[in-house]
Amino acid sequence: MNKEIPELYGSMIFSDKVMRKKLPKDMYKALRKTIENGTHLELDVANSVAVAMKEWAVENGATHYTHWFQPMTGFTAEKHDSFISPSGDGEVIMDFSGKELVKGEPDASSFPSGGLRATFEARGYTAWDPTSPAFIKDQTLYIPTAFCSYSGEALDKKTPLLRSMEALNDEAVKMLHLLGNPQVTRVSTTIGPEQEYFLVDKDLYHKRKDLIFCGRTLFGASAPKGQEMEDHYFGSLKPKVSAYMHDLDVELWKLGIPAKTKHNEVAPAQHELAPVFDTANVAVDHNQLTMEIMKKVAEKHNMVCLLHEKPFEGINGSGKHNNWSLITNEGVNLLNPGRTPAQNIQFLVFLMAVIKAVDDYADLMRISAASASNDHRLGGNEAPPAIVSIFLGDELTAVLESIENDTYFGKQEKVELDTGAHVLPHFVKDSTDRNRTSPFAFTGNKFEFRMLGSSASVATPNIVLNTAVAEALSQFYQELAGTQPQEMEHAVHELLKRAIQKHKKIIFNGNGYSEEWVKEAKNRGLYNLVTTPDCLPQFIEEKNVKLFTDHHIFTKEEIFSRYEILLENYAKTILIEARTMTEMLTKDFLPALDTYAGQTAGNAAAKKAFLPTLPLASEEALVTKLTKTYTDLTEGMRDLMALVKEAEGQEDMLTLAKICQTKILAKMEELRLAANEAEALIPDTLLPYPTYDQLLFGL
Ligand code: ADP
Ligand code: MG
Repeated sequence: MNKEIPELYGSMIFSDKVMRKKLPKDMYKALRKTIENGTHLELDVANSVAVAMKEWAVENGATHYTHWFQPMTGFTAEKHDSFISPSGDGEVIMDFSGKELVKGEPDASSFPSGGLRATFEARGYTAWDPTSPAFIKDQTLYIPTAFCSYSGEALDKKTPLLRSMEALNDEAVKMLHLLGNPQVTRVSTTIGPEQEYFLVDKDLYHKRKDLIFCGRTLFGASAPKGQEMEDHYFGSLKPKVSAYMHDLDVELWKLGIPAKTKHNEVAPAQHELAPVFDTANVAVDHNQLTMEIMKKVAEKHNMVCLLHEKPFEGINGSGKHNNWSLITNEGVNLLNPGRTPAQNIQFLVFLMAVIKAVDDYADLMRISAASASNDHRLGGNEAPPAIVSIFLGDELTAVLESIENDTYFGKQEKVELDTGAHVLPHFVKDSTDRNRTSPFAFTGNKFEFRMLGSSASVATPNIVLNTAVAEALSQFYQELAGTQPQEMEHAVHELLKRAIQKHKKIIFNGNGYSEEWVKEAKNRGLYNLVTTPDCLPQFIEEKNVKLFTDHHIFTKEEIFSRYEILLENYAKTILIEARTMTEMLTKDFLPALDTYAGQTAGNAAAKKAFLPTLPLASEEALVTKLTKTYTDLTEGMRDLMALVKEAEGQEDMLTLAKICQTKILAKMEELRLAANEAEALIPDTLLPYPTYDQLLFGL
């Protein structure tokens, strides 16, 4: 089997190897140029690629093709067309043109647009993204595309991501040239998203409406055992899970997704998969596919893969660590500290640009991880707090301090005009302290953004990060432009000093879970945007609108539409949860509760009739407790429905979201706690759905 893996790997993608084999030489070259330099693609090239793609796809069993895109639903979308084309004599041929490859026209009216696209101009366009390879899945050729409206506004996550990669490329290349590195022609963002998930038994899953409709449990008394023994993390894999992971790897490898690491996570039934990093755009597509295939393979194994950020209360939720760095066309990682001073200058400028970017746009970073589901996780002493800060580690922090104070790190002698670069060789090795409580940590040669939720698109934080870093580099460039080469070291040193003084408030190496940090962060003037409705209004703040419009990532209209969509998604999620909760209570839980109270009372009555002197205090207490809970839940549910009505009557999205956050969620929490208490009293045989014990330890 092992021998076959290199052959199997990427066998379902229209890879470079296939292109080279199938395309005429000049066409292949033209396509490569487009892929590598983002140049315009001529129709004759597209036609040639279409023919080759179709040939390859049909050889591999495909009958259909689809443009594959990432609308604002957070999921991917596809519409399949077959290759068949009547040839006039009652026969068909398999046909696919360059035009069909390059452009699609799906009806866009049913995708979220935040008011960008009125229904009378419902046409949307999908445009082929040749930088992400086409692939075959379920007998269909999938063509990765960007999705925009008739008038060119982005309706998806890929378009702004590609724009942000371009913006960062422009600024980074300009900076490298200025720093005396003229041979670099392209800088790309690299991403390695670590994906966490839960696996539960399929039959159990289908007995819980909350899992089906909301992806998370709305009730559930804690199991006697949780994660306190710390025996699950990196624990040996159960055979069922191991078989699943193997199949998953194989499916991903076929699609050229370099799944690399797999292990059990902290919570019972929780696991993680990490791929080898790739260019941002490809990594984002791959992560979308990974999530989809995780679910599909789980079905085959009679399990369900939960990607929700907080499927279970009382144990850890799931995140997605976004590892991010920059790589030049020569293969140099710009966040690698390197060994020579010349590299170090470069490293320090890029490092400082990231620090500045995250400080200036901490609110946008927070927004990039904001959702109703992730709100349950952030700040929960298991995931980073909602306060954005940067962990650099002691050594790198000391390096920056030495620059700020004109002192040598490690040595005490005073040095004139120096970048502080001599100090760096000490620090080349991986920083050993691995602070897990920081939302944004430097990890040796990359940054790791840990706020992102497990179900989210990786595109969003990278759009923000790329753009913010592009802006920081552009400001640095303006400060350095015109400096003579022999003055450059000094100028950079002074620039770094100024930047450190201004932005060091975002650096925090301590415990991000502590109460003291919340206070300290407030003193430092950092944002603490706890919930989604708290942070979203920052999206339309002037400084943020300016950032995105200056770098041509979003138009003002696109920003406002996305703001509306995010608020709406938030509110809809919570309203669905509230309705699901009511339904589960009415149809499942309250009847069970009532049955058990009735049975207990009936038994007690029988016992009393049998022997009037029997003490029945326990039975009485139990029936009283169950009946009181029955009343409380019934009344609470009525209140909850009234709140839902109030919310539904709101025109203004922010008001609606705030009602959901402050009133509806609070009421739901009250009901959850009351039901959990009663659940713990009811025998499993009477409970209408599987318990946490069964869900978490059932595999
Ligand atoms: P952790 O120790 O945080 O669990 P790992 O070391 O297993 O993480 O890997 C983290 C992820 O970082 C992997 O997906 C890896 O490919 C990715 N990664 C490594 N180097 C880079 C880089 N230069 N740019 C982006 N991602 C990277
Ligand atoms: Mg990690």
